[in-house]
Amino acid sequence: MENISEEFIRSMVPRVKCAGCGEPYHQEDITAVSRHDDTWLVNVTCGACRVRSLIAAAVKPGEGPRPSSRVPTDLTPEERPRFTKPVDSGDVLAMHYYLDGFDGDFKTLFSPPPS
Ligand SMILES: [Zn+2]
Repeated sequence: MENISEEFIRSMVPRVKCAGCGEPYHQEDITAVSRHDDTWLVNVTCGACRVRSLIAAAVKPGEGPRPSSRVPTDLTPEERPRFTKPVDSGDVLAMHYYLDGFDGDFKTLFSPPPS
């Protein structure tokens, strides 16, 4: 259980929704974190409706974060393989050919495709 950290507890807070308005909490909504034996207490103030709450998280021994879950990411499990593989020579070559024909029109590049 010693591998449980305040950082890990704070990372779990966005999974909890406010009892007052139903909005998920954000990292900046946390006002204090404390620990009492196996129980962590997190004081939060909802950023949407300002209702203050106390979240208690009981953590069983051995239920710490796994190394692969320690990197914060907003990638979905489906996106992860696509964006976490190392860049290889094929990627560099593909970008070279793309940039060779790119006219510099970023506005069109980042616009949603016409429907
Ligand atoms: Zn709220």
